[in-house]
Amino acid sequence: MKKNDRSRKNSEGLTPVATTKEWKLLYFQHGRPGLEEGSEFRGLCRYCELRDICGIPKPESGVWRCVYYRALTRKKTNLYENVINQLRKAEDVVHFDRDICRILAETTNELIVHFPVKMDGGMVEMLTGYRVQHNNALGPFKGGLRFHPSVDIDEIRALSTLMTWKTAITNIPFGGAKGGLQLDPADYSNQELEKITRRFTFALGNNIGPEYDILAPDVNTNPKIMAWILDTFLSTVTPNERNRCLHVVTGKPIEAGGSQGRYKATGQGIVFLIEKWAKDHGFNLKGATYTVQGFGNVGSWAARLMKKNGSKLIAVEDVTGVILNKEGIDPDDLADYVKDHGGVLDYPKAKPIDHETFFNTKADIFIPAALENQITAETAEMLNVKLVAEGANGPTDPEGDKVLQRKKIDLIPDILCNSGGVIVSYFEWLQNKRSEFWDLDEVDYKLQKMIVDAYERVRDTAEKYKVDWRTAAHIVAISRLEKVYKERGIFP
Ligand code: NAD
Repeated sequence: MKKNDRSRKNSEGLTPVATTKEWKLLYFQHGRPGLEEGSEFRGLCRYCELRDICGIPKPESGVWRCVYYRALTRKKTNLYENVINQLRKAEDVVHFDRDICRILAETTNELIVHFPVKMDGGMVEMLTGYRVQHNNALGPFKGGLRFHPSVDIDEIRALSTLMTWKTAITNIPFGGAKGGLQLDPADYSNQELEKITRRFTFALGNNIGPEYDILAPDVNTNPKIMAWILDTFLSTVTPNERNRCLHVVTGKPIEAGGSQGRYKATGQGIVFLIEKWAKDHGFNLKGATYTVQGFGNVGSWAARLMKKNGSKLIAVEDVTGVILNKEGIDPDDLADYVKDHGGVLDYPKAKPIDHETFFNTKADIFIPAALENQITAETAEMLNVKLVAEGANGPTDPEGDKVLQRKKIDLIPDILCNSGGVIVSYFEWLQNKRSEFWDLDEVDYKLQKMIVDAYERVRDTAEKYKVDWRTAAHIVAISRLEKVYKERGIFP
């Protein structure tokens, strides 16, 4: 195979985004220290497993990814389009007020910031960040911040809209927002990431705030990054305001004002819902098998908490690799391994498999907890499960949805299934406002009540209108927003 072969496709049929030469140029623009132009790395890319393909110089630190891996992060379908089409689908069933649907089909504010950051090697890199505020009819804008190379304005628009639906379904007094930085954190040192996060927070200025727009972790962001955001934001307000602003960000470390149970909240919410689904269907979770895509915050906690039910994790896919052990994989042991090794690749107590085998693995439950558009017409055909519990946002595209319905695979849709994170974020926000500190039992008890209530609203709506659960979840959310708009009217 030629080095610059643009025609090579990965298993998803995607082609590389740049030739070797272009990519090298981009790479050098990063200005990594210790790199000499012309030095080439020859070896196996641990992400796409191609040898000697692009010849990108190996960085001194961090993880090397080849051009084909980058191609994997390119989106195949436009998530925003899917999100709006889903709104239309709910509108067709219930005939919501047209004007209100037109409002909900648009975002309220969209902010794109470009800002410079001086890297460790002394070179300055320009970065691009986004914050999209979709709707605040029910309360302050609320939504996570994602660091990923595929981040763009459409993705953030879509995710901010999904946040509005999510807070509406769960009866939380928040609206929807989302933010993102278009970068791969593995390309940067810890100090560089801290500078980038702080500079981005500064660039957002008073477009965020504890009673206006509240941030939280998402893909590739974590409590430490939330603490940097908090510290930067607090540095920009007057000293006598600082203690009143802790709730500008949720998902903070406990010591910095975080809540008990926030770290596991999204996974915990998924497991509460799987338990509820099992109860409703007379399905015994003891001995049931499950597979998980994505073993980060959401996927690993969902996997670990499922263990308590006596269920068996048999396959896991993440960005580094795919593993299978039909006898069972201990999720706690795997989490320790991932912490030390950065991913599931080479986990010694399971065998490596490929993406297709992963999707073909027969199990009772599949938890997608990675990125969007993973369950397509093609991969949905491969699935041999009873339930898909969507931990990720937008993991199923519309064609994939159709196949799941035809195959009568039950679905707990993302805007319900992964709402545990924003529910406990709401608890954190309340605790900060009231200077309270709730214990874990209280957090878990309240989370279970809120998320199961939301499940019942969606289930009852699906039965009432005889629609699929994703449409039902949208009907619940839009009904709540419609009521608020009808009560308040439209200014002026
Ligand atoms: P994370 O960064 O902690 O983990 C992401 C995981 O996905 C990693 O294991 C990564 O290796 C894997 N991954 C990335 N690209 C992949 C690919 N192409 N194929 C297979 N695996 C891949 O992120 P997270 O916070 O766990 O978020 C995961 C999903 O859950 C996202 O869709 C996010 O929007 C959604 N979500 C997160 C939260 C939260 O509280 N963190 C709340 C609601 C929804």
